[in-house]
Amino acid sequence: MAKRDYYEVLGVGKGASEDEIKKAYRKIAIKYHPDRNPGDKEAEEKFKEAAEAYDVLHDPQKRQQYDQFGFEGMNGAGFGGFSGGGMNMDDIFSMFGDIFGGRAGGFGGFGGGGRRPQQFRGGDLRLKVRLSLLDVAHGVTKKFKVRKDVVCSHCHGSGAEAGSAAEICPTCHGSGVVTHTTQSFFGMMQTQGVCPTCHGEGKVIKNKCRECGGTGVVKGEEVVEIKIPAGVAEGMVVNVPGKGNAGMHNGVNGDIQVYIEEEPNDTFVRDGNNLIYNLLLDFPTAALGGEVEIPTIEGAKLKINIESGTQPGKTLRLRGKGLPSVQGYGSGTGDLIVNISVYVPKTLSHEEKSALAKFRESDNFKGDSTTKQSIFQRFRNYFN
Ligand SMILES: [Zn+2]
Ligand SMILES: [Zn+2]
Repeated sequence: MAKRDYYEVLGVGKGASEDEIKKAYRKIAIKYHPDRNPGDKEAEEKFKEAAEAYDVLHDPQKRQQYDQFGFEGMNGAGFGGFSGGGMNMDDIFSMFGDIFGGRAGGFGGFGGGGRRPQQFRGGDLRLKVRLSLLDVAHGVTKKFKVRKDVVCSHCHGSGAEAGSAAEICPTCHGSGVVTHTTQSFFGMMQTQGVCPTCHGEGKVIKNKCRECGGTGVVKGEEVVEIKIPAGVAEGMVVNVPGKGNAGMHNGVNGDIQVYIEEEPNDTFVRDGNNLIYNLLLDFPTAALGGEVEIPTIEGAKLKINIESGTQPGKTLRLRGKGLPSVQGYGSGTGDLIVNISVYVPKTLSHEEKSALAKFRESDNFKGDSTTKQSIFQRFRNYFN
């Protein structure tokens, strides 16, 4: 169990500035933070080791003593705090919590003084919803029957049996935290930790509710209406705050996360907010030009004009006839893109055959090389 040199632990040189030491410690502390590495003993040891090194090196007086005498200097009369077992987690959090600079919330609620009694939060629920392209175009409200933790009606969520109530925790007197006074480098030092009696809630239930066993929640069913905004896509998650499991003891409700799935559509292919429609033109219309009808997601038909001499591979873009944009995704309403191909008849009557045969030798019916080139070019442009 040889102790590693404090400079080595933080990965800084002997001449490192206070700022460099702070930055190095912060990086290590975040990496090995117990909230990020639950149950990982090795991470916990590294976290403690770094805290101890930082405690010494960020203090000019202690640093000088360490530089001069090494670990020996740390085990002297004034340094009882670290001899033997090293620091405990609560010490580390109360001493150095501020080094995480305002991110305390993200690390599970530690962060020095000002700890308030904690509220329980119910768990989140996950649902899947399968949407048609029309649902995506308009947005849709769906109803779900969900099984979840609901507030116990017998005790109204308090967890206490009828005629009794939760009492102020005798250990922490309602604050949810306990303060220890310990001997440390600095002399007497106060550290705070979560109250072991009430687990931070500040109250205890002596006479537990017989329906929920004191938790304040029971299994139940609820029909929830969830509004799915227009423009969502496969793989997106819609978060519905407060509709998840009820929190114990009238705490905070969890959320519902709705995972979006898309049904394939027979008419359109989706490409982001754009819709692609493959139009198969009959040969005479492609050659002569004319009007054709295009379906839209709304159901109404759109008349579009086909120019004479329209080539297969041509694309038309109908602005704003695609899908709406969900906030933070895509850029505005998409377009309806019409990909044109030309239908070549598979069966022909005797008359049709002889009519077409007349054209076989006509130069107008032979594609020139520039036309062929441009067809491939269009394909390439579209797919790139
Ligand atoms: Zn109850
Ligand atoms: Zn307590």
